[in-house]
Amino acid sequence: MGKARSIIQKVTSGDIRTVARLIGDIDDGIEEARDLLKELYPYTGRAYIIGITGAPGVGKSTLVDQMASHIRKNGKTLGILAVDPSSPFSGGAFLGDRVRMQRHSMDQGVFIRSMATRGHSGGLTGTTRGAIDVLDAMGKDYIILETAGVGQEAADLLKSAHTKVIVLIPGMGDDIQAMKAGILEAGDIFLINKSDREGAEKTLNDLRLMMDMDQKKYADGRWRPPIIKIEALSGRGVEEFLVEVERHRNCLMKDNGSLGLRRNKEMVSAELKDMVSARLLEEVIGHLAASGDFNDAVDAVVRGDTDPYSACDNLILPLLKIPDL
Ligand code: GDP
Repeated sequence: MGKARSIIQKVTSGDIRTVARLIGDIDDGIEEARDLLKELYPYTGRAYIIGITGAPGVGKSTLVDQMASHIRKNGKTLGILAVDPSSPFSGGAFLGDRVRMQRHSMDQGVFIRSMATRGHSGGLTGTTRGAIDVLDAMGKDYIILETAGVGQEAADLLKSAHTKVIVLIPGMGDDIQAMKAGILEAGDIFLINKSDREGAEKTLNDLRLMMDMDQKKYADGRWRPPIIKIEALSGRGVEEFLVEVERHRNCLMKDNGSLGLRRNKEMVSAELKDMVSARLLEEVIGHLAASGDFNDAVDAVVRGDTDPYSACDNLILPLLKIPDL
């Protein structure tokens, strides 16, 4: 109890080393970290979470760096969490970190961290949520969740953000077509970065056309995602983008109230569903492997004593009745 109390106290008073260690432990799936998160939860709920996603190379790191400068200029603090769901071993996110560190390393108001996303206990969503909670409890005003990719995993990660931002670049017409079902649905704000390049207007029009086809989604006066052309490298358009973030935040507050922002039903339910399914998988597989039942079942099917459908039922159904799973 004493040790846990002391860690909670250090996190909530913004002790950088304790925060870094705790996020590392969450990333490594250390069980005590999960228990600490339970105690830390009452201290969360203040931070505003902005999710930034897009294919590698579209300029996310450059953009996040610009955002950090604006947010700091306004006297607010922020945490940056870089999560790369596609390549846990690439270390790509760390390169971005180094570049950013150079600019913000002396600034106590910016905390930057990459996650290797091995996704222990609670899966990727649970791990990311945990790290967000730590930064939130630490007292950061904004948390930027930066993730690479346009696939389902990136869309899943965005569930933990209040404002979900999708970054595209000129000439991504085909990619827009490909992602319409998944991530396009998820976006609250669309950015066409590198709009100093040819084709920005066409990409913007392609995107607008596709959103217009989805009229009913916006018919009832709901938030209509703006599409903004920016140049992250020079910083052009970044301020306008941040104005839209605040406008979206106000829109969410109107719908949910300021308390409801954190305990937004849609967000809680999406995150909890991901966490339960990942945890269930982990616990069940772990139990089956440890008990040897799984290997016995494989042998039984191979011998012809049973079929895989019955074997599956026999493995899972008894487990679901274990009260202390
Ligand atoms: P990330 O992989 O999405 O994080 O992309 P980076 O931020 O690392 O940027 C990838 C490359 O695009 C870098 O060489 C940036 O300098 C460049 N870049 C970023 N923003 C712009 C922009 O507005 N215009 C142009 N021409 N290049 C940019």
